[in-house]
Order: sequence, then structure tokens, then C-alpha cells
Amino acid sequence: MTVRRVALVTGANQGVGFQVAKELVANGVTVLLGSRDFARGQEAAETIGAGAVAIQLDVTDSASIAAAAQRVEDEFGRLDLLVNNAGISHASQRDGDFLDDYATANRASTASLDEIRAVWETNVFGTLAVYQAMLSLLRESADARIVNVSSGVGSLAANADPAYPYHSMFGPVYPASKAAQNAITLAIMIELESTDIKVNLVSPGFTATNLNGFAGTESLEDGSREVVRVCLLGPDGPTGTFTRWENSPIPW
Ligand code: NAP
Repeated sequence: MTVRRVALVTGANQGVGFQVAKELVANGVTVLLGSRDFARGQEAAETIGAGAVAIQLDVTDSASIAAAAQRVEDEFGRLDLLVNNAGISHASQRDGDFLDDYATANRASTASLDEIRAVWETNVFGTLAVYQAMLSLLRESADARIVNVSSGVGSLAANADPAYPYHSMFGPVYPASKAAQNAITLAIMIELESTDIKVNLVSPGFTATNLNGFAGTESLEDGSREVVRVCLLGPDGPTGTFTRWENSPIPW
């Protein structure tokens, strides 16, 4: 008898997280769809159907994270796949053109410190907090993997090159939060390299989602491909990678 893998995807009620959850379920994985608004998670789980289970999870709320970990423990006793996907690009209301606003908001001299803190709270500390809470459950799996969903816009090596297309947009709000998320992921990789738990860092494509005011140029399905591919790697699949579609390495 094949035992179904159990996955938790944070921020799975819409966007890349929803697409990844849907495709994991289609591949026989039981997926807990993390959603800060439980009702929206339930709606998303119902849309996907059997194998999708909503779970309340706000990655900035330690009580919510602890309750989610307890629920996974009580219902499954282990976690095989953790996908740290929840993320935000800005915290304040934006009404203008997304890319114009993005460039302005990310200027180091003028970026709001409150805005930076709010974005880092979700993208950086949220990723680390969920990792810390779920690690003991991942240790109970015979084939555990962590997939952190970051972005090529957080690559320090790429951004340091003036020829990189997003070079002029690098700044302390979203891009630097993704650089910090990459750094946190490297720390997790190093901590776990003596264990059997695999850790991968991935970047979706520039995907039309709420995060970028639907300015992304790739469909949800195409933009999420690398995340899905890495989530479905088997026990012999690689660890310690940072890639975009298809298995193309991104410099750190
Ligand atoms: P999205 O459609 O806006 O989805 C983001 C998800 O994260 C939503 O479900 C959102 O919940 C959730 N979320 C936000 N704050 C949260 C919190 N505190 N606790 C729990 N969940 C929270 O954006 P997306 O494009 O799919 O982004 C997913 C990931 O891909 C992010 O890490 C992003 O940085 C990365 N990424 C995206 C692109 C792209 O082009 N779209 C490119 C590279 C990387 P609500 O629905 O409640 O807001």
C-alpha cells in the first residue's frame, strides 16, 4: 500500500501556492492549504477537491503557527513536504501602476521603514518561524523536503550586475526581503546537511498574481512549474539547489 505524502503549503488560498497545492493533490499528495483567512482556505480546498485540506495559518502570528503545527501533529503525526510560499510585495495600499510604484517604493533613500518591517515580517521571519515550528514533524518523515519559494529578484549576485534587467529596481522592501529569505534558506540548508531532510529554494516565473497587481507575464500554471517540479522530487532528488524553470540554477 502506498502511503500518501502529507504537504503543507503556506499562502495556498490563491496564486502560486494554490496552483502548487492543486498540482500536488493531482499527484496523490494530501495537501494542507495554509490560509490566514480560514474561510478562503476552505473555499480553495473545496475548489481543488478530495486531498485538499484547509488549515488556518498566518505566518506572522506565533499562536496561529503553533496551532497549525499541533493540528498536523494530531492528524498526521508527521510532515513530508513543507512549502514556504506565503509572501507579500508591499504592505501599504497601492493604487497606481504596479511596476512604477514598485520602483519608487524600493528606493533605499525613501523606502518606509514600517513598510520594510511588515514585508520582512512575512517573507523572512514568517519563513523561519514556520520552519522552526514544523521541523520536529519533518523529522518524523522518512522522505522530508522543504521548498522555500523565493525569487530571482533576491539574488545578490545577479543584482550586482548592471546588466541584470531588475538591477535598477533592487531595494530594501521586496527584493532585499527575498535576499534575506535566501540567506535564511541557506542557513536551513547548512543546519540540515547532516540529516536526510532535503531543502530547495525556487523562484516562480514572473507570474500574473495579486502580488504584482496581475502584471506578471506568465500564467499561474507556467509560472508555478519549477515549484511543482521541485516539490515532486523523490527521495533521491537533490538538496541545496536554487533554481527556476526548468532546473536552471540561479546565482545566490
Ligand atoms: P499572491 O497571489 O499574492 O499569494 C500570496 C499568498 O500568501 C496569499 O495566499 C496570501 O494570503 C499569502 N499570505 C500573505 N501574507 C501572509 C501571512 N502573513 N500568512 C499567511 N499567508 C500569507 O502571490 P504569489 O505571486 O502567488 O506569491 C507566492 C510566492 O511566490 C511569494 O513568496 C512570492 O514572493 C513568490 N514569487 C512570486 C512571483 C510572481 O511573479 N508572482 C515571482 C517570484 C516569486 P491572502 O490571500 O490572505 O493575502
